[in-house]
Amino acid sequence: MKETIYTIPVNEVFAEKCECPLCELESRFEKETVDYYLGPSLMEPDNRIETNDTGFCARHYGMMYNTQTNRLGLGLILDTYLLEQNKRLSKLMRVESKSQGEKRGLFGRGKKSSGNVDEVYKYISEHLEECCICSKLSYTMSRYIEVIFYLYVREKEFRERFNDGLGFCMPHLKLLIEGAKQHLSSSQQDEFFRNLFSMQVNNLERLEKEVSWFTQKFDYRNNDKPWGTSKDALIRGIKKVSGLKELD
Ligand SMILES: [Zn+2]
Ligand SMILES: [Zn+2]
Repeated sequence: MKETIYTIPVNEVFAEKCECPLCELESRFEKETVDYYLGPSLMEPDNRIETNDTGFCARHYGMMYNTQTNRLGLGLILDTYLLEQNKRLSKLMRVESKSQGEKRGLFGRGKKSSGNVDEVYKYISEHLEECCICSKLSYTMSRYIEVIFYLYVREKEFRERFNDGLGFCMPHLKLLIEGAKQHLSSSQQDEFFRNLFSMQVNNLERLEKEVSWFTQKFDYRNNDKPWGTSKDALIRGIKKVSGLKELD
């Protein structure tokens, strides 16, 4: 397979052992995408239409704000987003905005309706599920999964590195199971799942021992005994079972 924007990072993250190479891939792309929305995207009018329409989830607003690199840019995104969303909401809620009312010079506009509550609820529910960054992430993760199975089937070196890894976090294990069903033949799936499951179980057991030693180190009788690999076992354990990325 030609080196592409997808194969390069896949090969890179599998070259170094970690608790979940897919978390690593996702984090890298997520950071790049956050930077993109705070930088080059601002110059693209089409992107502003997208951010006004879709907006961002709480996690990604938080990430953009916390970069503290372009608060003006984020302010501009939020300003035009609010303009667009306020228009939609006031229409759905059948509330005439103050500025519209003043423009028309109307007082006591007659009978008011409270709008269709179900429609308002549906719009808000669906809108809260949308995020420009989440949708790019999910698209790109699907491409990465495709590349992983392509390489797994065709490149022995990659397959060996994959099978020799430390397993995956649970959400990404789920993603790999879905991907294998989609991209591998049934005989390929047999071999793949056998390797994946034994790698996952062995590494979860390894992690359990590391976490267990972490807890035993709180016993004063173990004060002078070495930490071994357990010093950061709590962090790695939480990341492994939940897929949480930020925890230092
Ligand atoms: Zn992961
Ligand atoms: Zn998001």
